Amino acid sequence: MNKPKILILGAGYGGMISATKIPKHLGANDASITLVNKHNYHYQATWLHEPAAGTLPADRARMLIKDVIDTNRVNFIEDTVTLIKKDENKVVLEKTGEVDYDYLIVALGFESATFGIKGLKERALTIEDLNSVRQIREHIEYQFSRYHNMETKEDHILNIVVGGGGFTGVEFLGELANRIPELCREYDIDRQQVRVVNVEGSPTILPMFDKDLVAYAIQRLEEKGVEFKCGHVIKECQEDGVIIGRRDSEETEKIKAGTIVWTGGVRGNHIVEDSGFEVVRGRVTVTEDLRVPGYDNIFIIGDCANVPNPETERPYPTTAQITIQEATYLSKNIKKALNGEPVEPFIFNDMGTVASLGHGDAIGIIFGKTKLKGTSAAAMKKIIDDRYLLKLGGVGLMLKKGKLNLLSK
Ligand code: FAD
Ligand code: NAD
Repeated sequence: MNKPKILILGAGYGGMISATKIPKHLGANDASITLVNKHNYHYQATWLHEPAAGTLPADRARMLIKDVIDTNRVNFIEDTVTLIKKDENKVVLEKTGEVDYDYLIVALGFESATFGIKGLKERALTIEDLNSVRQIREHIEYQFSRYHNMETKEDHILNIVVGGGGFTGVEFLGELANRIPELCREYDIDRQQVRVVNVEGSPTILPMFDKDLVAYAIQRLEEKGVEFKCGHVIKECQEDGVIIGRRDSEETEKIKAGTIVWTGGVRGNHIVEDSGFEVVRGRVTVTEDLRVPGYDNIFIIGDCANVPNPETERPYPTTAQITIQEATYLSKNIKKALNGEPVEPFIFNDMGTVASLGHGDAIGIIFGKTKLKGTSAAAMKKIIDDRYLLKLGGVGLMLKKGKLNLLSK
């Protein structure tokens, strides 16, 4: 009898944990496993704000997929998914063509959501993957490098606007606040000439944290020169700046800037919507065992899935934390799924959240109640980062690539 074919799409947190853990729960004769990813490397999306600001080399946030998966058990295809033919059990890849499956795990991750705001898609830079963050770093350096050689000085080219003060926006601001003084020294620019402005639509940044932690974050970032425009939304993005205003008011103002980085929200990968799945913001609302309703052989995990919180019936925020738990759960239950046996529902264990404010500083709340700020929160963030590497590739990977690393250069 032919072995069932398991096809995993995407080698982010969901795809990599699935590709490393499923072989541990299935014998070599139970199924063939294939992983598809558009690059030959896996990157940690949770670190992207650092190479974006230039505080970490992009290479530190990535690793070759073949160095982590067991290539005797998992066939890796470096290719881009263009369509999922869910009624034919096939996936279309850009170079390889059609690949068929018996069981599909969709883990294609997130992309920026620009909500149709005029000019944003065309003109703002985004924190989406390694290539997009390299562009941010280089763009900022380019603006600094050309300043002195301009015939007519346009001071605004040194200004940086960050649109959105959620987790990604704040973590990026934290890194940027540390990087700007270095850049100023490097390019002979007075720090006072550079404005870093965060525009956040809600009355406060990071509204999910308690007020005292938010106040701490604002104070720390303001001390390093970040300006906050809370209660203001970006209404339009232009070549040389953004138009902002209050949500319910016609009155607007322009902030001129040479760099505009959009961190105002994410959605599920467009491939899912393009393939005809029913989505909300690019995400499929999955069943309690993470399948697509009506398609028992398709599982969706990570940022392409809406997993409802049974207490509130609202979806959990999409995070690496929940994605890793989903992939671990799926790997443990895959044998039962292959045998057509019922599986227990997925239960999310919320361990807490930490938002970095730049090197050595952070705020967080762990195990539902313990608040952390400063160095203790920053240490916790590194522990969370390294715990993932330990889970993915054992002590060796953690020592080589981790934040508390001993072996990496
Ligand atoms: P991803 O990690 O996005 O991986 C998707 C993979 O699919 C990628 O390898 C991509 O190359 C590949 N892919 C995409 N399209 C295609 C295609 N068409 N064909 C083939 N391959 C494709 N969450 C936390 O829990 N804690 C944090 O501290 C945290 N920090 C974050 C910091 C930043 C700056 C950002 C942006 C996000 C952060 N998150 C954090 C959220 C977290 O990164 C995401 O929830 C997580 O990456 C989702 O994992 P995933 O496996 O679904 O997708
Ligand atoms: P988000 O949706 O959490 O935050 C986006 C922010 O942009 C919101 O505060 C929103 O009010 C604001 N916004 C939206 N439209 C705007 C506009 N027109 N003008 C100004 N502000 C606007 O998105 P994110 O920060 O990219 O995070 C995405 C996901 O990744 C979330 O689930 C988050 O929890 C997760 N994440 C977690 C961490 C962490 O745990 N440390 C870090 C980064 C991201």
